[in-house]
Amino acid sequence: MAARHAREAVRAAAGAPRCHRCDEPHGRAPWALYCVRCAEEVDESRRAERRKQVQRGREEAALKPCRGPKCSEPVGLSSGPARTYCSEACRRATEHVRKRARTKPEPVPCRRCGKPVVLKFRDGVCRSCQKVQRTAARRVTLQRRVRKAHGDAGCFHCSVPLPEGGVIDHLIPISRGGLSTVANMRVVCVLCNASKKDQLMDEWSPLHMATR
Ligand SMILES: [Zn+2]
Ligand SMILES: [Zn+2]
Ligand SMILES: [Zn+2]
Ligand SMILES: [Zn+2]
Repeated sequence: MAARHAREAVRAAAGAPRCHRCDEPHGRAPWALYCVRCAEEVDESRRAERRKQVQRGREEAALKPCRGPKCSEPVGLSSGPARTYCSEACRRATEHVRKRARTKPEPVPCRRCGKPVVLKFRDGVCRSCQKVQRTAARRVTLQRRVRKAHGDAGCFHCSVPLPEGGVIDHLIPISRGGLSTVANMRVVCVLCNASKKDQLMDEWSPLHMATR
């Protein structure tokens, strides 16, 4: 009770409530801050400030680079601050890229050569490595067949042991009319194969054997 009396006393001493802006008595409810005219002016300046902010935001957004693939044009003002692409073409291009990314599997490194490839099959090697592996496998199989037919005592010519496998030599070279048959093939060492070349057996003696 005492506090209220004190407040009313202060107000009476201060006289009629005054505008906080122009300091004239505003003649409005005691809790009002401004006279009618000042209240309108304050509102208007707030609206102007807000408009300026929106415009600034729009200009900043317009300077953003376009998100289109391989495009860095600013997106421009024409469609407001939320705009992401400089043109309809860029928007469509981006959609196209995304769609492709969804349907196209990620490239993974080939297990043999490490080259990133999109693998169609599950064995984890690229196409060219597959070819190399298949050739190697075929070579191993052929050598196994030739060994089975003619014995497994290392190089056919010089008898050096071939723990890692050798190469196939044609007794009658292909260039001399020999055939790629097991009967005409032997497993030999690389040295013998390189020195015999396309000679027949009675034209060639394994010279490197003497120096070994
Ligand atoms: Zn005022
Ligand atoms: Zn663009
Ligand atoms: Zn590979
Ligand atoms: Zn040999």
